Amino acid sequence: MIQQRLVLAINQGMVLDHIPAGQALKIMRLLHVVSDQQRITLGLNLASQRLTLKDLIKIENRLLTEEEFHQVSIFAPEATLNYIENFKISKKVRCQLPKRIHGIFICPNNNCISHGEGQTAFQVESALKTVMLSCVYCERRFERDQLVKNYL
Ligand SMILES: [Zn+2]
Repeated sequence: MIQQRLVLAINQGMVLDHIPAGQALKIMRLLHVVSDQQRITLGLNLASQRLTLKDLIKIENRLLTEEEFHQVSIFAPEATLNYIENFKISKKVRCQLPKRIHGIFICPNNNCISHGEGQTAFQVESALKTVMLSCVYCERRFERDQLVKNYL
């Protein structure tokens, strides 16, 4: 099994599994993992029992902060985070949507007061097939992908 081998090949780090296909690259950019110079294995459009197709990211010597875990959850609410120690899964955590997210995404509304404040905050809610975020400052609602564009 290729997947099994991907997991076993890592000594210390994490495997983000069951990412909906198409979201892994966004998550990698969000986490700035490429510039960390750690070894990364990326699996795109892999066969999955739970999803039709899934993405997978394996990163050596890297764990997620709570804040990063929330960011990942917005793009992959169904994902599983596996912590790897000594080539074995030491802990499995299911992603979970945060209720609120601060300081990560920029409000797409140009007239929003948050731009002047230098801080951002969004209420997070899951909607049909996506995740919606409402700006706490201007109260506008956005689909998660609208916020990414601004962030990147
Ligand atoms: Zn706003």
